[in-house]
Amino acid sequence: MFKTDIKSKTNEDISILVKPDNHSWSYLCECGEASGLTVKEIQNCNAIFISHTHIDHFVNFDNIIRHQIGLQRTVTICGPKNIAKQIQHRILGYSWNLIEENSIRYLIKEMTSDNEINVYELKPPLWELKSISIESSNVLIKEDKFQVTGVLLDHKLPTLSYLFQEYPQTKIQLNQDLKGGIWVKELKQAFNSKELDKQIIVGTNIYKAKELFHLLHVQEGDSVGIIMDHGATPDNHTKIKKHFSLTNKVFIESFYQNKDIEFAKINFHSYAKESGNIMKMAKVKDAIPVHFSRKYNEEDITILISEFMDAYTN
Ligand SMILES: [Zn+2]
Ligand SMILES: [Zn+2]
Repeated sequence: MFKTDIKSKTNEDISILVKPDNHSWSYLCECGEASGLTVKEIQNCNAIFISHTHIDHFVNFDNIIRHQIGLQRTVTICGPKNIAKQIQHRILGYSWNLIEENSIRYLIKEMTSDNEINVYELKPPLWELKSISIESSNVLIKEDKFQVTGVLLDHKLPTLSYLFQEYPQTKIQLNQDLKGGIWVKELKQAFNSKELDKQIIVGTNIYKAKELFHLLHVQEGDSVGIIMDHGATPDNHTKIKKHFSLTNKVFIESFYQNKDIEFAKINFHSYAKESGNIMKMAKVKDAIPVHFSRKYNEEDITILISEFMDAYTN
């Protein structure tokens, strides 16, 4: 399961924290100014995702690095084309003559197309960008129990949207006659590698693996999507539908009310009805509109959210 927490108030820039169950680290999504984000949470981040570098998504980066200096470990930063250079330039705006070399190491994963990730290393004191590898993949983070994949959307510049996805797990239903033991692990391995006739010893009995497969079932993993700024265009919607289909929970930008469709078009943003509708089309189970224009007051935002829900639930 993923625990998600919006760290920004409605009138602040967007920032969302994702915390997987039984996992040491958190994952910070977007670096907008968010008063709810604590120093401890910043220091516990394993990776930071930045959809694009418009100021409302990147402004808090200095604060984040301020609290990560001295962690003496690697933190991954994922973003679209040019993110590596832009992070380097932000950092080079400060003086670093007193910093120790091992105080932090950033691994930057720059998604340049839907199937290419350029990986760079950036570390003090010189903060020179060192190219590490180019990967033909859309997998940004790979952990024991989950992975994060990216897909690029168009917001008059590329924006990175991303999906946290737990791997499916093979579970067993034991009964009174069959008590747990080392055989459970062996049976699951046989099931996953389709070794139907593998010998499984349970107490004094010997079975073929396939005779016990009826005890097993596959449990789908949890999933969380983050879709930031994008135009409500057919191309973007095709990609959203493909990548986020049947996702458990998705946070999606819904920058404008329906009446402000002209602003949405000019600024390559989505708006309430289109964001709600694409979530319905993608059969997302729990869609949450976020990231509203600052020109709206609380009442306007209530209207915006109800316009979103109308499109999503009808
Ligand atoms: Zn933007
Ligand atoms: Zn934005």
